[in-house]
Amino acid sequence: MLTHIIEQIERVVLHMEPQRSVAFLNMSPQWAIEKMQRARFQRTLRLAAERSTFYREQFKRRGIDPRRIEHPSELGDFYTTGEDLRVHSAEAFLTGHADTAFETTGTTSPAPKRVFFSQAELLAMGRTSAIGLYHLGLRREDRVLSAYDCSFWVSPAVLRMGLQFLKCFHVEAGKISPQEFYDRARAYKPNVIFGEPSWIVRLSELAGERGTWPMKLLFGGGENISEQARSDVEQIWKAPLYLSYGQTESFGTLGVECKHKEGYHRNDLFFYFETRELDTEGYGELVYTTLARDVMPLIRYRSTDVTALIEEPCPCGLFARRIAKIRARTDEMVVCGMGNVGPWVFAELLRGVNGHGADWQVVVNHDGSRDVIELRLELKNFGHQGEVERAVLVNLRERFTDFWKNYEMKLYEFRVVPCEPGSLRAGRKLKLVLDQRQLTARRAR
Ligand SMILES: [Zn+2]
Repeated sequence: MLTHIIEQIERVVLHMEPQRSVAFLNMSPQWAIEKMQRARFQRTLRLAAERSTFYREQFKRRGIDPRRIEHPSELGDFYTTGEDLRVHSAEAFLTGHADTAFETTGTTSPAPKRVFFSQAELLAMGRTSAIGLYHLGLRREDRVLSAYDCSFWVSPAVLRMGLQFLKCFHVEAGKISPQEFYDRARAYKPNVIFGEPSWIVRLSELAGERGTWPMKLLFGGGENISEQARSDVEQIWKAPLYLSYGQTESFGTLGVECKHKEGYHRNDLFFYFETRELDTEGYGELVYTTLARDVMPLIRYRSTDVTALIEEPCPCGLFARRIAKIRARTDEMVVCGMGNVGPWVFAELLRGVNGHGADWQVVVNHDGSRDVIELRLELKNFGHQGEVERAVLVNLRERFTDFWKNYEMKLYEFRVVPCEPGSLRAGRKLKLVLDQRQLTARRAR
């Protein structure tokens, strides 16, 4: 009964103007949200068990009785993986009539994962996105230009829906070259730009050379960015760059930053979040269960992203708790002579180092006696290689005592390898850390 009342209230809240929704949700007690999550989880679990062939078979095989499960943690070591989506195909997960689908390729396999949705789900996701964007300062009078890639990608669809609720001017450029975007954008006087972070970096470099115009904010989705690259963009435009975190499987946004930029406020109304295999700092793989999806619900979906759940309230006062900045993908965590490293380590080594492009990649090899860590950087001037390498090593010494000790003990070799600008990124996503030691060992045999 209580849950029913809370759900009714939530429905009303999501139909209010975004500013009233935020105010109302901020007043809601945490227990009310938890109560609603629990009820929605049970409903989702039953739906999956009844209608999805994948979940029905999995639960049967594992002796899981959905009627007895009240909380995701009671499912033990049962998880859904991206590989499950590929192997069993999306149809095995369907529980209702689908109106649309999107795809994601990721960095591990060229085979896309397909995910299905309904228009009603798109509408609901648009409403919560509008709340997040309103919280960041987006208003009706703003002029939005989006360079989100419209090919099979979920983000432009969710953004389009969200902006309908905010009622602001919106033009979709699609993912065209930053050069062309720059030339055509000015005519619309956009003060808000959406794009993938690496694309925004290139656009900003261009704007730095050719001139900027007044900007309220920039918004990046679809991948991570180093704090150094973010601050470069912000200095060029004299405006903040905010990031969202999400996956196609989650229907876009799982969380969005606020003005403090200290993690992503998570969407607890639509997802139940967990983390698994935590390290000593409380970081582990993010796992989520969808709570408001009828077409293709996902139970304990493994995101392959390493982060932590932050339960302390944010200084901004928003009711939603946070996910910490993503540290790595699980397949980019490498144990090597340097230590247990992931992309955040190298982003931190590059913070404050000038003379290189925004893209970088680390390749771990073994030369027969020790691991070789190659930091591949796009340099305009290859003559600066020595200078850049020295600056990176100073950061290594000052910021990572343990990794520096291992370096001094010669447990690994560290090199900066210069690359041509624009040469590292082949697709939309760039795998930041590549472990090629198996490959080199095989070649040596
Ligand atoms: Zn906040």
